[in-house]
Amino acid sequence: MSRAHNFSAGPATLPEPVLRQAQQEMLDWHGAGASIVELSHRGPEFMQVAAEAETDLRALLAIPDDYAVLFLAGGATTLQALIPLNFAAPGQAADYVVSGHWGKTAVKEARPYADVRIAASSEADGFRGIPARASWQLSEDAAYVHITANETIHGVEFRELPDVGAVPLVADFSSSIASEPLDIARFGLVYGGAQKNLGPAGISFAIVRRDLLERAGQPRAEILDYRAHAAKGSMLNTPPTWSWYLLGLTVRWMLEQGGVAEFARRNARKAALLYAAIDGSGGYYRNEVDPAARSRMNVPFFLHDAALDQPFLAAAKGAGLIGLKGHRALGGMRASLYNAMPEAGVQALADFMADFRQRHG
Ligand SMILES: *Cc1c(COP(=O)(O)O)cnc(C)c1O
Repeated sequence: MSRAHNFSAGPATLPEPVLRQAQQEMLDWHGAGASIVELSHRGPEFMQVAAEAETDLRALLAIPDDYAVLFLAGGATTLQALIPLNFAAPGQAADYVVSGHWGKTAVKEARPYADVRIAASSEADGFRGIPARASWQLSEDAAYVHITANETIHGVEFRELPDVGAVPLVADFSSSIASEPLDIARFGLVYGGAQKNLGPAGISFAIVRRDLLERAGQPRAEILDYRAHAAKGSMLNTPPTWSWYLLGLTVRWMLEQGGVAEFARRNARKAALLYAAIDGSGGYYRNEVDPAARSRMNVPFFLHDAALDQPFLAAAKGAGLIGLKGHRALGGMRASLYNAMPEAGVQALADFMADFRQRHG
């Protein structure tokens, strides 16, 4: 058996030591006589797993005490609908800065519950950059300002946090959480799905400033209520225990590797290597994103002739490089370089790209 280098955007590659540990613990978790997936979420074993995952995530991201950490079933899209329900009064304005596909999704999910205003959008430019802060039309009465820290499909990333004054900044960090140090105190809410950089699908995270939990929001069922989830330790109902457990192992691995400062260095080197391979190809490969907004995590690129896409993907697979097909909205290729992607994987991709270009010049 040999594992390929997996560049999938999500669900995505996980650290091999995490998978091995899960494999080893699969039948009998720490002498419990059963797998962790088979045990009650309210029993001492899973309570320990859940608590350690939160403690470790708090340590990894340096989350201040005045922020609650929620682990919720469902994906980032679910949270995009829950955010206005919990934090905007009925009909209240909410500002959205749209820099790609997921910003548009956030708008769509919020529209039934808030007076969604597009404060800025780079759609007219094909989402090739971040709208300049000076161009944003923010509303003074907005419940929050929403941004997508990293656009997973368009490969556009905020490289500088915007100042939005006193209005809470809400950010979708699905595909870049824990990729570099982050000042959580700058945000009202940081959220995302786990399946990009933090673990498997099926669980999402919300890091929310506690005072926001006091907002009335809108009439909603208790199961959609952040405050209720926070009060019950994200165990209002049965949580996705398997996903939570794997997230915990992944976060522990990141701490053992040296934490976000170390991953920031690795991720910068990986991204530099791949963008150099693209930019140095004389137009054989191209990435169209404004260099100042290029994502370190997701690198979409195109071959100079789309007829080469299938041969490229087939040859890449033969070389042990998978998950490179671009999102259907853009076509072309996309390489995702999450924390679990080793530098050797990116080097192998860069070498393969040079070799492919020589053979199909
Ligand atoms: C993947 C992704 C989403 C959607 O996540 P789901 O878990 O599929 O709902 C939202 N935002 C960003 C930035 C993403 O990368």
